[in-house]
Parts: sequence; structure tokens; C-alpha cells
Amino acid sequence: MDSAEFDRLVTRARDPRLIAGIYNYCDGRCPRCPFTQRCLTYLDIEDVKSSGDGQSLADAVGDSLQRTLEMLAEAARRDGVDLDAGAEDAAAAAGDVDLERHRADPLAVRAREYGQLAWRIGRALAPIAAAREDAAIVDAVETIEWFASMISSKIYRAICGEAEGWEPRDQAQTDFNGSAKIALLGIADSRRAWLVLMEAGRAAADGVPAQAVRMLEELDAAVRGRFPRVMQFVRPGFDQPAAEPGGAQ
Ligand code: SF4
Repeated sequence: MDSAEFDRLVTRARDPRLIAGIYNYCDGRCPRCPFTQRCLTYLDIEDVKSSGDGQSLADAVGDSLQRTLEMLAEAARRDGVDLDAGAEDAAAAAGDVDLERHRADPLAVRAREYGQLAWRIGRALAPIAAAREDAAIVDAVETIEWFASMISSKIYRAICGEAEGWEPRDQAQTDFNGSAKIALLGIADSRRAWLVLMEAGRAAADGVPAQAVRMLEELDAAVRGRFPRVMQFVRPGFDQPAAEPGGAQ
């Protein structure tokens, strides 16, 4: 990244219309998001996509991430910071984190079990839903697939953050509460989607949707029990009534 590009991106990042960190606690469904024009991640990805040759979204996200890393490197160079030293410290700290123990946490295990079920069923139902051309079913299946892995990854992140004590456990505005809140929102959206599939004539009565709903309800209760202040977490933009959306897609 050259210096001019760095300055241009810094100027954009300072745009007062942007909501700082809004992309950290959203559900990532940009086409449905009312805050696209106030989200640095969205604008950056759009920028990368428009400058690429028919890039896929995954490639655009990858390029955006690469650009962020280059920005950090340029900022560090200007400030005379040795990023390699920081990386070594971070690696050493991560070595102390008992990731296996957190993976084996019963809540993490249950979240993964739901994710595997939802992903498997979602993949099987997607072509059937598309063939029926029923917008409600297509949307429900997309929702189930979208959150299948996100719910477990956010719960896992929340478990690790809370267990490792990286932030005060008695405060609401912490990353573990924010991650848990996103998981709860995904659980609620997924539950509604499964209920759509359960409506008469819309899903085979094989009990799988009902099982998925039960799993989600148990996860919801377990997350709220583990993170009692989860709903007090204020998500930038989304939970701030004064924040005006900057243009939906
Ligand atoms: S805040 Fe909205 S626009 Fe930004 S990444 Fe999240 S869903 Fe997409």
C-alpha cells in the first residue's frame, strides 16, 4: 500500500457518518442491513469489488482484510512500531489459552451440534425450496444456512472471552456479551425460519424442524444463563435509537 492510498483510506475511516465498530456485532447480512452507508467494512468491500474484475464476495472480503493489514503496517511504520514484536507477544498469549477446554465446553458442543444439523438440513432443502419458487421458504432456508455456523462461532467466541477473563466479567459492554448477543439474535431468526418450514404443507413431518427448534430454545436459555448481562450489551448503531441508517440496499 502506498502512502497516498493509506491517507485516502484513513480519511474515509474518519468520515463522521461512519458508526465505529458497527461491523463487529452485526449479523453480516449486508443486503438486508440499513446501515450499509455508515459501515466502513461494507464500503471497503464495495470499493474492492468495484475495482476488481468480477470478484466473488469471498475474494473481496479477503482483499479488504489484506488492505486492513497493510494499513496497520503503514500506520505502524509511521509510528515506528515493530509489529513483529507485537505478533510474538500475541502468539505467546494465545499459547496460554486453553482452546481445547473451551471447545469441549458443553455449551460450545451443543452449539456445534445444532450448527451441523442446520447446515446439513439447509443444504438438502435449498434446491427443493428453489424448485418450489416459494419466497418464504427460500428465505427461511437461506436464514437457517446463514446462521448455521455463525451461532456456534459466536457462542464459542463468547465462551473463550468470558472464561479467559480478558474483560471484566461484571460489565455488560464486553466482547463476550456482544458475541453472545449476536448468537441470540441468530437463534431467534433461525427459530422463526424453522417455524416457517413447519407450517402445514411446507415441510416433511419428520420431526427435524421441531428438533431444531428445541435445540435453539435450549441454546437460547443456556446463553442467557451463562451471560446474564448479554441483552444489556449495546450494539453500535443497531441498539442506538438515535443512529440514523445511511441507506438500505
Ligand atoms: S454492519 Fe451492516 S453493512 Fe456492515 S458488515 Fe454488518 S451487515 Fe454488513
